[in-house]
Amino acid sequence: MRNKRAVIVQCRLSSSRLPGKALLELGGKPVLAWVLNTMKKVPAAKYYVATDHDSYDLLLPICKENGFECFAGDLDDVLKRFCDLIKKIKVTTIVRATADNPFLFYEAAISSLEEFEEKQKSKKKCAYLTFTGLPHGSGVEIMDADELLAAAEQTDNPYDHEHVGPALYNHKENFNCEFVKAPARFRNPDLRTTIDTYSDYLRAISIVNYLGLPKGKKWVPYTTEQILDACKADYVQNPLVFVPSVTKGQGTGHLHRCLACAIKTKGFIYIPKDSSLAEVPALVSEYMEKGLCQNQIIHELPDETYSPVIVTDCFKMTKEQAQLYGNCKKLISIDEGSEYTQYCDYLLDIIPSYDCQRLPNSFDTSYIQKPLNVRKEISKNIENVLICIGGEDPAGLTVPAARALAKVLPGAKITAIVSNVQKYKDIVHINFIEPVENLREKICEYDLVVSHYGLTAFEAAFAGCAVIMLASTKLHELLAQKYEFAFIPQGKLDAQRMQLALESPNLYPKMSLSTQQKSLGDFITQLSSSKRLYCPVCRTQSSKPDPIISRNAGRTYRRCQNCSMVYMSFTAEEEKQYKKTYFFEDYKKQYGRTYEEDFEHIKKQCERRIQIIKSFEQTGGAKNYLDIGCAYGPSLAAAAEQKLNPFGTDISEDAINYVKNQLHFPACCSAFPNMDSEKEFGISKFDYVSMWYVIEHFKDLDSVLSKISQLVKDGGIFAFATPSGEGVSARSDLHKFYLNSPTDHFSIWEPHRAHKILSRYGFEVVKIVSTGHHPERFPSIKKSNAQKDSLRWNLIDKYSRIMQLGDTVEIYCRKKGGK
Ligand SMILES: [Zn+2]
Repeated sequence: MRNKRAVIVQCRLSSSRLPGKALLELGGKPVLAWVLNTMKKVPAAKYYVATDHDSYDLLLPICKENGFECFAGDLDDVLKRFCDLIKKIKVTTIVRATADNPFLFYEAAISSLEEFEEKQKSKKKCAYLTFTGLPHGSGVEIMDADELLAAAEQTDNPYDHEHVGPALYNHKENFNCEFVKAPARFRNPDLRTTIDTYSDYLRAISIVNYLGLPKGKKWVPYTTEQILDACKADYVQNPLVFVPSVTKGQGTGHLHRCLACAIKTKGFIYIPKDSSLAEVPALVSEYMEKGLCQNQIIHELPDETYSPVIVTDCFKMTKEQAQLYGNCKKLISIDEGSEYTQYCDYLLDIIPSYDCQRLPNSFDTSYIQKPLNVRKEISKNIENVLICIGGEDPAGLTVPAARALAKVLPGAKITAIVSNVQKYKDIVHINFIEPVENLREKICEYDLVVSHYGLTAFEAAFAGCAVIMLASTKLHELLAQKYEFAFIPQGKLDAQRMQLALESPNLYPKMSLSTQQKSLGDFITQLSSSKRLYCPVCRTQSSKPDPIISRNAGRTYRRCQNCSMVYMSFTAEEEKQYKKTYFFEDYKKQYGRTYEEDFEHIKKQCERRIQIIKSFEQTGGAKNYLDIGCAYGPSLAAAAEQKLNPFGTDISEDAINYVKNQLHFPACCSAFPNMDSEKEFGISKFDYVSMWYVIEHFKDLDSVLSKISQLVKDGGIFAFATPSGEGVSARSDLHKFYLNSPTDHFSIWEPHRAHKILSRYGFEVVKIVSTGHHPERFPSIKKSNAQKDSLRWNLIDKYSRIMQLGDTVEIYCRKKGGK
């Protein structure tokens, strides 16, 4: 059988979406070489690339190198091309692969080939077989050569002729075609490995970067497991694209930082083809020597089919940039100074912020790359001075600074870094030089560095140099002051001011900033696997970003502009799993005692809540009460004592077993809202439904509230308890409140805005009970240190209750309709 098999790889270079894709470079090899190298693993008598006449010469060397022969045939009638080749080489079975699939599963190909040949032995001859459910781009087709020739004879449908398989499987009445569900280890229909578009190509680069580059002419193809592992890896799924400023006049600091990060993270760097920064090619080659790969530099962003995590380091985004990047998978911005930061999922400030008004997620100077070469001691005399204003020096400060320095330090050697030395050739006494490679490590050679507010000034300070900042704006003056640098105010640059600056006690900055060195690349890698979330009620992304409520190191919170819910819009924290440990270890960590120990206490609370629920009762008779997230059943026990019929559901199997076996109440384990109450309890609508401290845990509140709306009878009551976004903690220190909010609370309810949300689901708020009153959290108690039960304490406690300033809230609402 084997000597009649042929592997035929179909290839042409005239793709409209991605021209010449078979020749694109992937890990140092053309894409076609990947396909051929992999298909060589499938045992066959003949190995052919079937192409058109125009592509033949370009493909031939790659075919030869990989042990394939090359056949040129019709360009558009691919079916004819195949048939001509089959007639020429006289084989019985065809394994067809295409040249845009570098990550074929050769094991699946062999296995489908064997299955095909097995079927050939039966009475009804198999004409075509393929595995279904493989990643898009990892599969092959097996065909019977004679049947394909016959099929080609029988069809003049243009579609059949542009392709190969359809001539058979679109004519199942004449040909026996089998679409076989692939064995489980190959099945991953949601993944994509083919290269059809530029975005696919970037994904392919990521896969190769993740798995490692091939070594040698003949290399071992990736296994199925390797390819699947890569496709599912964070690195491949969340491609990082750094966007540095490459604009003339903004210096090279941004590009330096991004290039270094790209090496560390193996991410892409987006540099538009029309970048106006002259230093780009030189800097890129400098970093290539340090390990950057050419294919990490991209001139086009991937589209939504391979949406990237954008990391901007571009000084100030334009509105268009902010909108474009904000629409990507995630937007992380470093030292972002524009007014469009609401588009950013995460804001990282490394250099103390330009804009002191807006809050970053984190501010950490440990990410400033500190120079390794530092001065051993402070020099007594300033003899060697560097002026480095960066970029194009748009304010023209270099020459005035040099002149002022020459006056006050007559003997000193003055060096100035400028981007165009020629421009200054008439000025003597100053040594003008072009931008210096790796200045950071050379800066310690200078006794004094004169710079503007920016990275160089900080690096010089870390290197132990004297530093004078030239402020080009009022804000820079404030920042220079804040971080205790000697500086010359805006527009005041002369010899007298220079002398004053030299006498400043801050000439050697004390650097209250962190001297610790953290890796920015590692941090960005960590952040790239974080999650962006949308309003749990509305579930969509608006064209305008929702306003920011609070940012902290792990999370970002926004207010939905449609329904006004405050929600977690970004989280870098690990997802919590509600296993058995949740009610034991986690609960104990949070509340200092186990859930079971707390049972009686919680039950008492539930008794009070159920009394409130019952107070809305309009008719008598036994009432059915469902508690969602019932845990070990304290609310069910309280309900039973108050003559209700309790039912419970919870995600924890252990808790449900306890409720059923120890408390003997009907209960079911479910991941709400996936629960069929009719099936579980024989009840489709309840008089009362409750959720005690559960509602904030759902990322998809819409389906939860819709389901609850279905479960509550018209006129029935839905009640829930949750932390309050309007309590004293939130009011006295909003950011601290959100920082302390548990990482698995996705929505924060503000009682006064609850009505708007609940009415969408047919509920009308009938009562709000402010709970969790803590006088000790009020500023006046904190300040006066008043003791419990003192007059002030009791007054504050009363005030908290009247003003509904408790840190938790119970909301009771009635299902509209009916009576
Ligand atoms: Zn919303």
